[in-house]
Formats: sequence, structure tokens, C-alpha cells
Amino acid sequence: MIRIIQGLGSARPDNRGGNMVYFCGMSPSRKCILAIESSCDDTSAAVICDGVILSNVIAAQLIHADYGGIVPEVASRMHQENITLVVDSALQKANVNLSELDAVACTAGPGLLGSLTVGLNFAKAMALGLGLPFISVNHMRAHVLSHFIDEPKPEFPFLNLTVSGGHTQIVLVKSYSEMEVIGQTRDDAAGEAFDKSGKILGLKYPAGPLIDKLAREGNPVYTFPIPQIAGYDFSFSGLKTAIMYFIRDQKKVDPLFVDNHLHDICASIQNTIVEILARKLLAASQAYNIREIGIAGGVAANSGLRKRLKEMANENDWKIYFPAMQYCTDNAGMIAMAAYFQYKDGEFSSLDTAPYVGGCKRHRA
Ligand code: ADP
Ligand code: MG
Repeated sequence: MIRIIQGLGSARPDNRGGNMVYFCGMSPSRKCILAIESSCDDTSAAVICDGVILSNVIAAQLIHADYGGIVPEVASRMHQENITLVVDSALQKANVNLSELDAVACTAGPGLLGSLTVGLNFAKAMALGLGLPFISVNHMRAHVLSHFIDEPKPEFPFLNLTVSGGHTQIVLVKSYSEMEVIGQTRDDAAGEAFDKSGKILGLKYPAGPLIDKLAREGNPVYTFPIPQIAGYDFSFSGLKTAIMYFIRDQKKVDPLFVDNHLHDICASIQNTIVEILARKLLAASQAYNIREIGIAGGVAANSGLRKRLKEMANENDWKIYFPAMQYCTDNAGMIAMAAYFQYKDGEFSSLDTAPYVGGCKRHRA
């Protein structure tokens, strides 16, 4: 079961003798890269030409909702089923044919090993078959570089808060290639905190978007502890435990507590997660004296986080940057953007490149 949830671009495919032929009529000197992303549960492909994203196709795997989290083995199998269709669709939408490609790029990590292997093998086989250079891309760097897809673009140096289902980082971005992680989560990621809190409330996976929606009609009347971690590191595992005991105790008094107060509970959880993120970001901005601030990753879609950070931007004279929604959660558009900068720098990868788990992303608890 897949659902194509994004698909920028337009196509004029013409099926001749069984082979898809795509009209283009564009300058032969332009540089086009096909990029593939399969690090977790979204199969995605994008085409970038001369730094402009022409297509970004994402097939979400809805099947994991039935299990309350991502099942790695199922994810790899779904990638395998989806990848040909998704790549073909990205080329069609971009109106680019295989002979116009100058390189093939793919996420090599961090991510789920089986999921990464599917995209990586597909991309390497394409590069080999077409005689093109291969570019391996780091998923976390790509999240940061998603800010360079559309206007307005941040100026260097900037601080990026990368908040996804598997990672939470504050990155000092000095250039397209020079980045330093100055803070990160010591346990759960911000998206994971949303998803696991949702699970405690009986919400479907992934709970982040749902908590966001429910929180809009609630008030943050319940308080949960803000962890006191030194520096710019984060911790979210204590929050999950605090919520679990809070719900358990409240249910002893009122078995329907969750049903009767769901909006306020969601608003309180969201408010706490947002506050943890906002305070660390403010501290980093003050210490590094940087007011160019980017937010990327799936949790950047959260309306409470956006609102709070916009308020902070006004108070602290920040310029704040959010990628378009389709470039927040996992997508090949951001991989294509990162690959474009690597291509310009002549940074190509060996076909021996192996997938890496490093900074492992979440899967079903
Ligand atoms: P990963 O790279 O780890 O797969 P993504 O960048 O794709 O993560 O983001 C997915 C995560 O973002 C999930 O944990 C999901 O719950 C969270 N998320 C998506 N939209 C929202 C939202 N509106 N509010 C809070 N969390 C969200
Ligand atoms: Mg991601």
C-alpha cells in the first residue's frame, strides 16, 4: 500500500515501442542529477538541473501505522516495490530522460540499513549502467541544505535546528560543505517524543501531525518537566516517562481522562517539546552571536514550533528560515540539492560506498 504524496513538476511522456521517451528541448549543457532517498519509510526520487529542483516524488508507506511504528524489514520490502515507479515518475515529471543525466545520487546514511541498501543499490546500478558518476549523500547534511532549494536562502554562518523522527541537532553551518554539530539529543529525537507521547495517548503512528492538529483546539494547562542538560544537547526520554505516569495517575481518578482532555493534553505535550527546542536554540544563538536561524526536518512542520520560533525571531532580531513543507519530511529533493553542491565540488563517491546506520534513526520500539 503506497500513496504518492508529492510530485512537483509536469511531464509529457510518450511511449514508443515499450520504452518511455521524454521530450525536453532544453540546453544540452545543463547539469542534471537524479537523486534517491530511502533511508527510512519514504521512497523518494528527485531531479535537479542546474541547481533547480524539477521533480520531487515521495511514496509514503502507510502500512507502518498498523504496527505503531516503522518495521524495518517491511520498510525495505516496500522500498523495493516502490522504487522503480518512483524513479520513473520523478524523471517523467522533470521531463528529463536518462541520457540527459550527469550523475546519480543517493542517501548513504544515517538510516535503517535495509532501507538504505535498496536505494543505494538501485542508484549505484543506474550509475554503473549509464556510465555516470555516483554521489553518496549524508541525510542530515541534506536536511540542512534543504534551505537552498527555494528563496529566501540563509546567509552563512547560520544555525540550523534539525528536528526529525530520528534526529535532533543544532548545527553550525559555515558553508555548503562545512558543518559542525554543536548539540544533539542524548536519547529520543523530537519527532520520536511526539510519536511516543501519541502512542501513550492511543494515537496512530506517526502521532506528530495529529498532536499538532489536536493541540490547536487545546491549551497547555498541564506542565511537564524541562530537562536541565548542559550545553546545547537535548533529552526527551524523561518527558515520555513523565507523560506516562501523569496519564496513569489521572486515569485512576477519571478513567476517561484522556478522552475528556485530549486537546489540552496534546497542547501541553507540544508546548513542552517546543519549549525544550526553543530554549536551546536561543542559548546557542546568543553564545555564537548568530541570528540567521534555519529549521529543518519533519518536526519543522509543527505549527506550535513555527509560531514560537517566529515570536522569538521578533524578540531577538532573528532571520528565520523554514523549507517548504514537501522538503521538511524525508524527500529526495533535499538529497538532490546536497548532491548538486557535491557535484560542483567534484565530490564523487565510489561504487563500493556502503550504507551506514550512524546516529541511528528510529524504528518501532
Ligand atoms: P526521519 O528523517 O527521521 O524519517 P522526518 O524528517 O521524515 O523523520 O520526519 C518525520 C517525523 O516528523 C515524525 O516523527 C513525525 O511525527 C514528525 N512530524 C511530522 N509533522 C509533524 C508536525 N506537524 N508536528 C510534529 N511532528 C511532526
Ligand atoms: Mg529525515
